Amino acid sequence: MKTLDNTSFKDKKALVRVDFNVPLNENFEISDDSRIRAAVPTIRKILNDEGSAILMSHLGRPTNGPELRYSLRHIIDRVADLTGAKVIFSNNCIGHEAEELAGSLKNGEILLLENLRFHAEEQNGDKEFARSLSVLGDIYVNDAFGTAHRAHASTSIIAQFFGSNKYFGYVMASEIDNADKLLNDPQRPFTAIVGGAKVSDKLLIIENLMKIADNILIGGGMAYTFVKAQGGQIGKSLVEEDRLELTLELMRKAKESGVQLLIPEDSVIADEFAPGANHRIASSDAIASDWMGLDIGPKATEKYKDIIRSSKSVLWNGPMGVFEMEAFSAGTKDVALAVAEATQKGAFTLIGGGDSAAAIHKFHLADQVSYVSTGGGALLEYFEGKELPGIKAILSVPGE
Ligand code: AMP
Repeated sequence: MKTLDNTSFKDKKALVRVDFNVPLNENFEISDDSRIRAAVPTIRKILNDEGSAILMSHLGRPTNGPELRYSLRHIIDRVADLTGAKVIFSNNCIGHEAEELAGSLKNGEILLLENLRFHAEEQNGDKEFARSLSVLGDIYVNDAFGTAHRAHASTSIIAQFFGSNKYFGYVMASEIDNADKLLNDPQRPFTAIVGGAKVSDKLLIIENLMKIADNILIGGGMAYTFVKAQGGQIGKSLVEEDRLELTLELMRKAKESGVQLLIPEDSVIADEFAPGANHRIASSDAIASDWMGLDIGPKATEKYKDIIRSSKSVLWNGPMGVFEMEAFSAGTKDVALAVAEATQKGAFTLIGGGDSAAAIHKFHLADQVSYVSTGGGALLEYFEGKELPGIKAILSVPGE
């Protein structure tokens, strides 16, 4: 793989696409700096080699040019603290100021560029905009896995201006390595746990996992489309009527390919979607008309735990219920604990995509699993078997 360890940055200016899309509070203070921390090894490698780093990122979703609340100037001090380097800021990511500052940047220093998305050309994948960015550096590094599934100017289009001088940063490299462990040669049994709100978001991943996993455990709101498709009574539970046929098709395919696809046999049901709702246990296919399933039930949880604990590889994408509400968090928490147990017994376990990373952090189990991915949509698409533009851009060499 084209990682940083294969090259020296001595006297070079590295243009690095990072993911500094951190949450800011109303005083523009960073409430969680883990994305900046994640990029530090890549930045330090460049600076330790006696090179300099030009960092570019998006922050939030500005729609109409520059806006103070989305300015990357709010994170200058934190980048300096975490890297221990001098950080210079450019008020525009392209143009005269950025070029001047990049030109006079010294080895060991960082130039942080203003929010890429203050220019609509970034998300449009505009080639001229990408070219304007590319003139700032000698080597291109992509360390923003979270946007690797987007063909934006800074994540993919820009790579063509660097010939073969382009590399994956450490975050990208480990995301790819870890995902490939499951995709290419998983230890068996391999169990995939797929949950979350909507089955339409997860159809492609389930279809692709069917080719590699031994067990697929379904949970979350999406489970009720499966239950209804089989003729069950699901009350007011989430359902996607236009996907009923497709879920039946998935179940047929699983049977044909010898994959165990499980739907939760019981559920925690509630009379409203609220933390204080009345709730009880019911069979998932016999939910009273005014009630809804908001978590997998105790029987399903036990069964899923048994399967997870005896697995050698686990992928977990999406919560088993409305884990944000205490009354409906047990299924997700117990599954998380079982994944941690499997890890302790030597299984390789990867968490990511959708809200399962948030869930594993909430239950303080992030350090008890093998790997928690930083990429929501990007990881999901990788497991759907798609080629991500941000990865392809680094791997493809002009003329080949
Ligand atoms: P996703 O982003 O697709 O992973 O979906 C995560 C969201 O699905 C979380 O906010 C959960 O609260 C929600 N969710 C999980 N199970 C259910 C359910 N049974 N009914 C409604 N929402 C659910």
